[in-house]
Amino acid sequence: MAALPFVAARERIIAEVLRAAPAPAVELVDLRDAAGRVLAETVRADRDWPPAARSLRDGFAVRAADLPGELRVTGEVRAGQAYDGEVKAGEAVEIMTGATVPYGADAVVMVEHVTRTAGGIRTDRQASPGDFINPRGSEARRGDLLLDKGLRLDFAGIALLAGVGKSAVEVFARPRVAILATGDEIVAVDERPLDHQVRNSNAFSLAAQVERAGGIPAILPVARDTFESTRLLIERGLSAGLLVLSGGVSAGKYDIVETVLADLGATFFFDRVRIQPGQPLVFGRVGEKFFFGLPGNPVSTMVTFETLARAAVDLLGGVKCPPLPFTLARLTTTFRHNPGLTRFLPARLTPGAPEVTPIPWQGSSDIAAVGRANAFLVADEDREQWNAGELIQVLPR
Ligand code: AMP
Ligand code: MG
Repeated sequence: MAALPFVAARERIIAEVLRAAPAPAVELVDLRDAAGRVLAETVRADRDWPPAARSLRDGFAVRAADLPGELRVTGEVRAGQAYDGEVKAGEAVEIMTGATVPYGADAVVMVEHVTRTAGGIRTDRQASPGDFINPRGSEARRGDLLLDKGLRLDFAGIALLAGVGKSAVEVFARPRVAILATGDEIVAVDERPLDHQVRNSNAFSLAAQVERAGGIPAILPVARDTFESTRLLIERGLSAGLLVLSGGVSAGKYDIVETVLADLGATFFFDRVRIQPGQPLVFGRVGEKFFFGLPGNPVSTMVTFETLARAAVDLLGGVKCPPLPFTLARLTTTFRHNPGLTRFLPARLTPGAPEVTPIPWQGSSDIAAVGRANAFLVADEDREQWNAGELIQVLPR
């Protein structure tokens, strides 16, 4: 199978999951538990926003044509108060921010722009109709779409839900993601490894990434590098909504993940991507269940999950547009790489400044370097050099 460029691999994942994934179940959650969940209903304005013309300032409701000049103050309207008086020619009503503009008034003049007189106010300012007033329905009309299905709710979405009176909201069920680390050298985190052994960090970094992507991780026991052990655990993992494996997908004699998956009747969409770290990377399906075979080196596992597999978790959780939040930052030093692969390298974004510095590292086993970083620098496959001060793409962590 030909190795896919990074963007093509990502597009393939999104296309295949959208084509074949079952629609996620819908659950009703309290508004307080809805942040971070994916909206499963469309949310429309339940009335005009604002429902009546509203003042944007503390000041006086006036007829614009009366200004500049002196006006008689005939009343006061506060936020939360219904006012049934009228503003007639030569009159003003004192008004607070958020209060409903009284009948007859067509502008608000700010309290800072008037001087008080014995019976009222005077101002040298001109006013135009509409000044400091949000007309009825100017933010949204009753029935307008405010939030669409498939949106991951953040604090702004929560505000809108509260604003239309939703104390409970329909969201998609979080997808279950089975995590299966493979390898004879892998030992449990609380074991003391011998020199030829490594602790299982991948299962835990993946679980953290799955949670952050809105999934529910389930860590399986480590599969040994035998056909029987790997097959048994892959079959178990395929009962989840998605199976993510680490290790066993390179060209070594004991890299048997693909062999086992093929034996289970898998369809493979790709098994190599032109990225570093993480070139061997398997994506496919057994029946209606998708799987990823990610490379075992810990930095490769992290990078391939974050930039590729994560999109599948988002989609299985009902997200309409899986995010890949690249940003741009200026390099503090000149950076070169060999074109042909998209590279994701540990880097440090300067706090408070859009600047990025690559971090020296020893390759894809070096999680210590990733620990000193707070981002991955993204080097495009078709460019060789970026000079100090030039903008480069960055994936913050
Ligand atoms: P593999 O992709 O199976 O060839 O694994 C490559 C290397 O990644 C192994 O030699 C280990 O050092 C490391 N590795 C594999 N699986 C894990 C894991 N679960 N946790 C930490 N390191 C791992
Ligand atoms: Mg291995």
